[in-house]
Amino acid sequence: MRILVSGASIAGPALAYWLHRYGFEVTVVERSATLRKAGGHAVDLFRPAMDIVEMMKVLEPIKARATGIERLGFRLENRLDRRYEIEIRRLIGAVSDRHVEIMRDDLSEIFYEATVKTTEYRFGDSIASLSEDPAGVEVTFEQAPPERFDLVIGADGLHSHVRRLVFGEESGFATWIGGYLCVITLPNYSNLDDVSEAICGVNRMAGIYAVPDVADARAVFLFRPARELDYHYRDVARQKELLRKAFNGVGWEVPRLLSELDHTPAFYFDSITQLRMDTWSRGRVTLVGDAGYCPGPAVGGSTSLAIVGAYMLAGQLAVAGGDHTLAFAAYESEIGDYVRRSRAFAMGAVKHLIPAGQGDLRKLIVVSRAVKHLPLPLTRALTRLSNTGLRLHDSVKLTDYSKP
Ligand SMILES: Cc1cc2nc3c(=O)[nH]c(=O)nc-3n(C[C@H](O)[C@H](O)[C@H](O)COP(=O)(O)OP(=O)(O)OC[C@H]3O[C@@H](n4cnc5c(N)ncnc54)[C@H](O)[C@@H]3O)c2cc1C
Repeated sequence: MRILVSGASIAGPALAYWLHRYGFEVTVVERSATLRKAGGHAVDLFRPAMDIVEMMKVLEPIKARATGIERLGFRLENRLDRRYEIEIRRLIGAVSDRHVEIMRDDLSEIFYEATVKTTEYRFGDSIASLSEDPAGVEVTFEQAPPERFDLVIGADGLHSHVRRLVFGEESGFATWIGGYLCVITLPNYSNLDDVSEAICGVNRMAGIYAVPDVADARAVFLFRPARELDYHYRDVARQKELLRKAFNGVGWEVPRLLSELDHTPAFYFDSITQLRMDTWSRGRVTLVGDAGYCPGPAVGGSTSLAIVGAYMLAGQLAVAGGDHTLAFAAYESEIGDYVRRSRAFAMGAVKHLIPAGQGDLRKLIVVSRAVKHLPLPLTRALTRLSNTGLRLHDSVKLTDYSKP
């Protein structure tokens, strides 16, 4: 059975690994000319994703390339002389029993290397059209000649092309959940190592972090305007102008970070958007990872969700012996609860991530003190009270599909 996967970042290669393990023949098409190795941003693997990467035998290389960021130092816009610190390790330890933070492109490369011998990767191409008949899917490509596949899976991210071809425009499913996110690459001019530094104000925060073995640093900007912004996603000049306006007058390192906008080799700017689809399968096509159910970049643990989704989709196809009608329904039903809880969590996280008022800023200071002073078991016990909240990832149960 031949399966075409679109996208070679996280969900695509993880899916290719498990599909191959269950005996399917996999081709992955990726729009970028090569595997992205610019580093990207830091992403999180929580317990279920950690269990899956262990089964994929890539846990050790992942741990070896963990970012190692232990502490977040921050100051408030109106009190620059006072620095607070949150011990991120302790905070995450309370949220998840098993966690690693790693740069997205490092993770992608590790998954690629684990699958390159058993998967056909085609870089620098994209699906152009899909037409389904009872026996399969006829696929045309932008570069390669047309081909037939039994199934097609979109793992091509939040702005998925496969989703647009099959379900229609993104605007029909995407909801702005109240924030904007920008990440740029810049020189690690202040020699940061295991500490990330930030400045927080009402409705905006900016920070900088570096990662061992990565020469440059990342600046992150998060802000919440009163209403949705008007810009075209390809209009980088306008996006930079909007960012400068949002951080106008902020002190600390922010003028220096903004000046890097003129030279940065990598600029990412997007709205914090949540996808809400009731179903992400149609006929012989389904979606996995951000393409199908992104709860919001940087707010909903979407990398773990993408890895768990890939594992469940491949597993359900194996259980159903390749019958996509049974498998896609079982996949959606199995991951549905995790998706819904991730969405709900992201709605709350976006509010807390970008302080909405002086009260939120005060809470941040309280958290920094509590994390330092509360014994870890107590912090854990508090966060464990609700599995719809912080412990949502660790509460996911994985099925062993290799057992009948
Ligand atoms: C700035 C930022 C910060 C984030 N921070 C975190 C975090 O702290 N923690 C966390 O867990 N997650 C975070 N995320 C989210 C995380 O990056 C994603 O959830 C994760 O990468 C999802 O993987 P994916 O494979 O589904 O999609 P993506 O990583 O988006 O990959 C999609 C792939 O599809 C390819 N593609 C696109 N169009 C086509 C096409 N037409 N044809 C072929 N290929 C195509 C792309 O080039 C890409 O390789 C963050 C995201 C962003 C943007």
